[in-house]
Amino acid sequence: MEAFPARKAVLGALQIRRALPVRGRRLVGPWCFLDRYGPLTFSGGKPMDVAPHPHLGLQTVSWLLDGEIVHNDSLGCEGLIRPGELSLMTAGHGITHAEETPASNSGRLNGVQLWVALPDAARHCAPSYEHRVNIPEVTVPGARASVILGSFAGFTSAGTSFSPLCGVELVVEHGARVEFPLENSFEYAVIILDGTLEVERQILEPDTLYYLGAGRGEIGLASKAGGRALLVGGLPFGETVLMWWNFVARTAEELAEARLAWESHERFPAVKAYHGERLAAPAFVPRPPRRD
Ligand code: MN
Repeated sequence: MEAFPARKAVLGALQIRRALPVRGRRLVGPWCFLDRYGPLTFSGGKPMDVAPHPHLGLQTVSWLLDGEIVHNDSLGCEGLIRPGELSLMTAGHGITHAEETPASNSGRLNGVQLWVALPDAARHCAPSYEHRVNIPEVTVPGARASVILGSFAGFTSAGTSFSPLCGVELVVEHGARVEFPLENSFEYAVIILDGTLEVERQILEPDTLYYLGAGRGEIGLASKAGGRALLVGGLPFGETVLMWWNFVARTAEELAEARLAWESHERFPAVKAYHGERLAAPAFVPRPPRRD
């Protein structure tokens, strides 16, 4: 396994660790972005307060271990997300959303946000939002796998996906040693979320993405004290994506057009449910796609 330490960043007032993209690893299947935040506790205020901002060419996946988030978007969809539930937004050709800690909350926050790059055939589709509360669970003695998105070990999430992939939460009980089947053709990466966990007899360090590559028929997991991890994977994407701000596209021109549309209040409608200013786009600095 190849280890990639996450880098620290901030999302408004929230400290996050960005595990994708990192230098040397831009994609795992179609997964192109992975932010880890928490665990944290708070009283008053809202640690998550991401004002309305646009997305393009991707899906956002929010998954909580603790606490709650409220999602509002320009389609008028609202989702109050709790641990073990999938918040899935397909941006397609354009959507605006906001994510906040709700006024009524537990005072705790712990979770991940991921992005999935949409393949060329699907990236101009109409935007949509899904909140899924029934997450398929694969159970074996000593462990379980929650299939957040895509397919894993014969189980498939109800969340809509557009290329072969999986996003899975793995929970291993203390003292257990288990195996789950993998797709030979998929590449995979794993990051520990809490507790302790060994993958292929290697102890996972916190805030580190471990790239497993492709060609594996199974994954071996063990935990001394109990542990939880996130596994992402998929067919190698095969398309060169260009990411800038909240957009996933193919050319610098597309990114510049999307930025101009946002700044001109076109294409990306307002989020009526959010009370406050929307985010301004940063200055656009076109860069060639990174291949490292
Ligand atoms: Mn967003």
